[in-house]
Amino acid sequence: MGNKIYVVGMGPGREEMMTGEALCALEQADVIVGYTVYLDLLDTRFQQKELLSTPMRMEEERCRLCFEEAEKDKKVALICSGDAGIYGMASLMLEIGKSYPQTELIVIAGVTAASSGAAVLGAPLGHDFCVVSLSDLLTPWETIEKRLSAAAEGDFVIVLYNPSSRKRKDYLRRACDILLQSIEGERICGYVENIGREGTKAETCTLRELRDREVNMFTTVFIGNSESELIGGKLVTKRGYQTEEQHGEKSSRGIL
Ligand code: SAH
Repeated sequence: MGNKIYVVGMGPGREEMMTGEALCALEQADVIVGYTVYLDLLDTRFQQKELLSTPMRMEEERCRLCFEEAEKDKKVALICSGDAGIYGMASLMLEIGKSYPQTELIVIAGVTAASSGAAVLGAPLGHDFCVVSLSDLLTPWETIEKRLSAAAEGDFVIVLYNPSSRKRKDYLRRACDILLQSIEGERICGYVENIGREGTKAETCTLRELRDREVNMFTTVFIGNSESELIGGKLVTKRGYQTEEQHGEKSSRGIL
């Protein structure tokens, strides 16, 4: 039998928000590798396992550490927040994995911040949406600008990951300025901080107001499309079903 590494998306934080498959992989693992913040989020029963971490920004080293541990015939789980394939380590693991053909990589889906944050706000992703990261560590800012403009042009609901960091305080403002070139200032938006963790905070506001809001790196931002609205305080993007509320008559619910 070859070596196995599970690349696990642990969801936004709390264990209840992890998938059963992710939990199962962690339970089977001999070694759990991850950024310290994520290791600390794990329940005490996992703290008995061998836990290994490398500092933030040492992603490649963290990946290689997994392969080295797997070569010692241990079952390894690499944990990422949310989904490991969404701005996570799954792609880097698969790339580095080319040099370790005897090791099998199993990617396990997790609940990404777009999904868990959307649930806190209501149902903002009821129609086509785009996800854009504002981090220019690995992507040139011009590319980010181009994608933001195209998403606005396409009337997508837009989800922003990495909206801020210590070094990038004004990035959300810069992104809003680009969006405001084609989207009206009254467009409904929302953002959620610390999803599934202590201190969850959700807010809704207009795009113009969002421009001046301060958010931190543990925040996911949602910009509605032209049809999004607030219903009883919840941010909703309709799928387009004809409801009785709109028509005062029985509607076809066959495809709900
Ligand atoms: N793989 C992760 C995303 C990593 S990028 C996922 O699928 O969710 C990091 C960004 O994700 C953060 O800057 C933030 O925008 C978002 N994010 C991740 N976890 C979050 C949480 N618990 N609460 C709010 N935003 C979160």
